[in-house]
Formats: sequence, structure tokens, C-alpha cells
Amino acid sequence: MLRTGAPVTVATAGIRIHDQHWIGGEWQAAASGESFDVRNPATGELLARVASGDAADVDRAATAARAAFRGEAWRKLSPHRRAELLWRLADLVERHAEELALLETLNNGKPLFESRQVDLPGVVENFRYYAGLADKIEGATIPVAGLFLNYTLREPLGVVGCIVPWNFPLSLAAWKMAPALACGNTVILKPAEQTPLTALRLAELAAEAGFPPGVLNVVAGFGETAGTALVRHPDVDAISFTGSTEVGRIVMREAATTLKKVSLELGGKSPNIVFADADLAAAARGSCSGIFYGKGEVCAAGSRILVEESIAGDFVRALLDRTAKMTVGDPLDPKTRIGAIVSEAQLERVLSYIERGKSEGARLLCGGERITVNGRGNFVTATVFDEVTPQMTIAQEEIFGPVAAVMTFRDVHDAIDKANRTIYGLAAGIWSRDIGKAHRLAAEIQAGTVWINTYQRYDSGSPFGGYKQSGFARDLGFQSAIDKYTQVKSVWVALDA
Ligand code: NAD
Repeated sequence: MLRTGAPVTVATAGIRIHDQHWIGGEWQAAASGESFDVRNPATGELLARVASGDAADVDRAATAARAAFRGEAWRKLSPHRRAELLWRLADLVERHAEELALLETLNNGKPLFESRQVDLPGVVENFRYYAGLADKIEGATIPVAGLFLNYTLREPLGVVGCIVPWNFPLSLAAWKMAPALACGNTVILKPAEQTPLTALRLAELAAEAGFPPGVLNVVAGFGETAGTALVRHPDVDAISFTGSTEVGRIVMREAATTLKKVSLELGGKSPNIVFADADLAAAARGSCSGIFYGKGEVCAAGSRILVEESIAGDFVRALLDRTAKMTVGDPLDPKTRIGAIVSEAQLERVLSYIERGKSEGARLLCGGERITVNGRGNFVTATVFDEVTPQMTIAQEEIFGPVAAVMTFRDVHDAIDKANRTIYGLAAGIWSRDIGKAHRLAAEIQAGTVWINTYQRYDSGSPFGGYKQSGFARDLGFQSAIDKYTQVKSVWVALDA
């Protein structure tokens, strides 16, 4: 059992670090021989020098994944046995949860309590949920005209490329590979260059669970090289992408050449709407965790807090009280609520948005500072601005850091107008005791997820994804996973032959 608070390094924790690609059931160095540094953002410690993938590595992975897709070991495996493999992988992840949680925290900088109590249990549950789906994928019989039997088959897409960001490295890998595998596809996973370590360890656990070689491959590397190569590869049938809206546009363009099936889970600037009739304490608590959970590096973060004018003063005071409890510090310290920003580049980005907020006239109520812990690391204090107007940069652009922009609204119509006035549509929160009003508003908000009197709830069974420029298709869910990772074949049989 890990003792939190004690100085932990990769060496002292004794965890397994892999630094090569996992292709065709074995570790493989980069074809180019190149590698890149992966660091702990809380300390700067070098965790590993990881193989840097390019087109040659992706090609090897595509060959392995195609061979596995065609091979009998996977294609002829019954759905019940596929389910069993996913369940076994869930068991292995659970058995290694402590190690994986620590590795996630060392690599991403998120507080250990988040990795341990939220991410890892979620990953285990995700594999179990999709184990349950594997043998429940059904076609239909269709009453067509004439003497024909017509039925549909739901077939896997083939080789699916899964590209994930750095904020929830293991969770988002599971969100994609679990349903893709449950549906009978083979997978090439490309983790983010900042956080490849847990995905590589997961590949090893999948092999231990009994997935045949080539069914799951992990190619580490940068977006411009490994990511682009995966999207362009003619023998990759689909791309399931989570990341920024900016890169989502590139992925869609690049995928057009081979007409790959693309699904995009992109950025957000989610409104969290607090009405005067809300339970103020609950709304302040939920709004605080809604923006500061995961250091604000959460696609669905409630980064625009819209408050009804009449309670703005009281609400902001309550929000600031809660925010004062968001201790920034060593991610391994159990008291820490905001860990290290994932990279120096991301820290600079967050700080530049804070400067932008100030220069455009928003009022900085707290935070806004870069700090170090034990003299090092990428940390920024929990930041709240009010007097924000809808056209300000911090009200429009995704900051992806612990920065809340508080705005006011007059009435329901103004709330809807301000909530929807963004290119994004990922999520929204509504706080009100008038449940009829909340439901009516939920229907008006352009977002893939609406939380009423709660925020940041996820479940493997509940579809998650965006409206507008937050993307399309859904992660999670039952039917949405089948729609995303299978294709439909219609079979006609003449009955009068
Ligand atoms: P990013 O778009 O920079 O990178 C995401 C992934 O894409 C990484 O693996 C990266 O290497 C790869 N990539 C980069 N350029 C590429 C290219 N040209 N071709 C192919 N792949 C490429 O995003 P990020 O900074 O890692 O993550 C933050 C973003 O992810 C935020 O915008 C956030 O909102 C979004 N996100 C969305 C969801 C969701 O479910 N909607 C969940 C988490 C994060």
C-alpha cells in the first residue's frame, strides 16, 4: 500500500514503466530510434524516455492490427469469450489499481485521490460494462415487401485508431478501447505525448488478460507524427478522437482522403447556471468542483458560471469560501485538491488567459498566480474572475485550467441566450429548486450533457459527447457504442427460390 505524503519517485514506488510501443503483442523500439522525455509535472523528474512513433511505427501497428482482425483467434472468438477477456482485463486493472493510479498521478500531476478514487474505479467499471455489451449486439429482421427474408448484421468496423488527450489518459483510453474491442474491432491506441505511461502498462495487462497479439496496439508519439500517420493510414478504418476542437478539425480534414469513419469528442466552454431559487450552498460547492476538479483540465469543466443577478453577491461570496479550500500542492498529498498543470506549455497558456482576463477588464477575485511546491513544478492557484462579459476571451475560449469566469444574467431567457452564445456545446449545469424550470431549460441548452443540481457526473451507461463544435458521436452508453464501433449489413434472402 502506498503511503501518501512520503516522497515518491518512480524508483522508490517500484512501478513498471514501459518506454516502447506495444505492437503485435511485443515491445518494439521506434523504427527511427527516436524517443522523447516524459516528466512528472509536479517535480520535473524524468519518468521515461519513450519511443517516438512515426509513420513507420503506425504502419507496423496497422499491419499487426489488420492481421489480428482477419485472424481466427479474434474473428472466430465467440462474443461470450470476448466478454470474458474484457472482464479479465477489468480484474487485472483492479488488481493493479494502486500502481496505475500512482503512475497516472506521477505522469499527469493530478491529485492521487482523483486517480485512486475516481479514475481507476471508473476504468474498471468501464471494462466490465462493455464486457456486458460484447454478447448483446444484435441485428434486426425487417418486414420488407415481397417474398424475402431481410435481416441486418452488426459487424465491427475493422481497425480503429483511438487518439486520446492527456487529461484523463487511462480513463479516456478505456472509454474508447473497451467498446471498440467489445464490438470485435482491433485497436491502435495513440496516447498523448505528455502522458503515455499508463496506456503502455494497460497494453501489457491486456496481453496478460489473453487478448490475442495485435488486437490492442499502443503507439506512443506526437500528434503531428504518430497521430497524423494514424489518421492518414489507408488500412485504418475509423478514428475515435478526443482532444481539442482545433486538432479535431485537422483530423476531419485528413480523414477525408481515405473517407474514414470519424468521431470527435472535443473541447468545451460549459455554462453552469445558478438561479436565485437554487440551494446556494450546494450550487457553490458544485460550481467550485465543476471548475476546479481535475485542475480545470476537464473538457466539461463548468468554466462559465452564470449567476442570476439578484443573488450574485451572495453566491460569489459562497463560491470564494469554497475556492479557498482548493489547496494547491503536491499531488501525492491527500490534502491536495489541485495538483500540477500537466506541462510547462499548458501552464503558460493558462497564465496568458489570466493576463487576458485582467487586461480585458474582468475583475480578479482570487488566485491567478503561478506557484511552486518545494521550489519546483507547474502550479497555478484556483482563480475566479467576475464582471466577465460574454464577448471577453475568457468567456469564449477554452482555457483548460483552474480559471472560473463568473457572469450574471437577468432572467431565464437571458440565461439561455448567454449559455448558448459559444461555438461549443459539450455540457451545462443548472442549479434551481424549480425542477420544472430546470427541465425546460435542459431542453433549450445546446449541449450533449446537462446536469441539474449536480455537476461532472459520468457513468459508463450514459452517452457523453458534444453538440456544435464540441464534436459528434458519443463516448460511453450502450446503443451509442454499438452505433459508433459497428457497421450494418443488410442481407436479403429470396424465399421463393
Ligand atoms: P490535443 O488536441 O492537442 O491532442 C489530443 C490528442 O491528439 C493527442 O494524443 C495528440 O498527440 C493528438 N494530436 C495532436 N495533433 C494531431 C494531429 N494533427 N493529428 C492527429 N492527432 C493529433 O488536445 P490536448 O491538449 O491533449 O487535450 C485537451 C483537449 O481535449 C481540450 O480541448 C479538451 O476539451 C479536449 N477533451 C475533450 C473531451 C471530450 O470528451 N469531449 C475529453 C477530454 C479532453
